[in-house]
Amino acid sequence: MAKKFACKDIGMECAFEARAENEVLLMGQIRDHARTAHAMEQIDETTMAKIRAAIKDE
Ligand SMILES: [Zn+2]
Repeated sequence: MAKKFACKDIGMECAFEARAENEVLLMGQIRDHARTAHAMEQIDETTMAKIRAAIKDE
């Protein structure tokens, strides 16, 4: 099942949305976005937990 994530779902003021075939691919897109758009070289555990909770099946 495809997965999706939107930055705004974790309270970011950001229009970014990602879709991918699975959670592994989706996390890759989210990591790239976090690094380039939010200057997060590493996603901390608190943010990671929010991201996991915000990933939805599509
Ligand atoms: Zn964002």
